[in-house]
Amino acid sequence: MADTDDWDIATRAIRVGHRRTSENEHSEPIFATSSFVFGSAAEAAARFSGEQPGNIYARFTNPTVRAFEERLAAMEGGEACVATASGMAAILATCMGLLQQGDHLVSSRSIFGSTVVLFDKYLSRFGIQTSYVDLADLAAWEAAIRPETRMLFLETPANPLTTLGDIRALAELAHAHDCLLVVDNCFCTPALQRPLALGADIVVHSATKYIDGQGRALGGAVVGDATRVGEEVYGVLRTAGPSMSPFNAWIFLKGLETLALRMREHSRNAGQLAEWLATHPAVERVHYPGLESHPQYALAQRQQDAPGGILSFEVKGGREAAWSVIDATRLCSITANLGDTKTTITHPATTTHGRLSDEQREQAGITQGLIRIAVGLEAVEDIRNDLARGLDRL
Ligand SMILES: *Cc1c(COP(=O)(O)O)cnc(C)c1O
Repeated sequence: MADTDDWDIATRAIRVGHRRTSENEHSEPIFATSSFVFGSAAEAAARFSGEQPGNIYARFTNPTVRAFEERLAAMEGGEACVATASGMAAILATCMGLLQQGDHLVSSRSIFGSTVVLFDKYLSRFGIQTSYVDLADLAAWEAAIRPETRMLFLETPANPLTTLGDIRALAELAHAHDCLLVVDNCFCTPALQRPLALGADIVVHSATKYIDGQGRALGGAVVGDATRVGEEVYGVLRTAGPSMSPFNAWIFLKGLETLALRMREHSRNAGQLAEWLATHPAVERVHYPGLESHPQYALAQRQQDAPGGILSFEVKGGREAAWSVIDATRLCSITANLGDTKTTITHPATTTHGRLSDEQREQAGITQGLIRIAVGLEAVEDIRNDLARGLDRL
């Protein structure tokens, strides 16, 4: 085997993880099996006792799932990766594996809606409390840390305003207070941002988004060191069971092979669209880390290889105007999902952020005129024309 440490991330995405079987297959096979056979009673005993490594049962390990885990670990630069049934299962397993009753968590306010519910409704039942802070306000993070704080949690860029968190600065803050920094790297993927190299301890993923890239399967992953992820988080997975299916692992393996290519193109399309929107008379403001007008443009340049595929913009005329732009589209899909070849369009104030009070929404900057686009891989002229239909009428 070549020394994979020397390889570029694009090469790792294609070459790491597959151990060719005696059939000499070129493409990764799907091991559609829930259990594995032993050569003898003694071998079975040795496997079960842990004396001999190897497969026992697919809730613990499966070769297709392992191939995906090794490939993603190599891309994120982590020692260990565990694959999960969904992105939420990755976050749950991380919390169950690394936190305990009485611990405190500090989280960015701008995180995925179900993650907020997981922290507030479920973790709190087991004596783990969460405080929320503004992602970009380093002083607020520091002020929220208590003696019992064990973990800082964030997404960057955040949805829908593409606000950034400074991973390096937050890692230093976390470590100064004996806390772990967990980064949900769903929006950038390792193709554009590698939080572990910036000092984060754990990366979580919803593979459902860009890693699949074509909206077909649900999955997730946790990446980090051999003890915390390889033992503690893995222990939750093999015991509690939100493990990834081999079929989904195969989809994600193939997704990783084209990830760098797709992320570059998502970014290129989004960048062109953002620049065009910024000049449109019906558009008040565009939020995109690739625009120099973004308040954290310098951080984006430093922290990410490219600005990514998500942008949002505010139209003049509030909700009525925003809805009319969305309803005038024929190509864009009206859905809150992201990370697909297909461009999606959504109105955050009445969907993903609809449960917030008017005051909370205003504080968060999510206005009624705000539209979020997860830019796909269609020809950018066609996406632009699709948006122009509604925008030109305003
Ligand atoms: C979708 C998403 C999740 C949850 O992932 P699922 O695969 O839907 O469980 C977590 N974080 C972010 C940022 C997401 O976009």
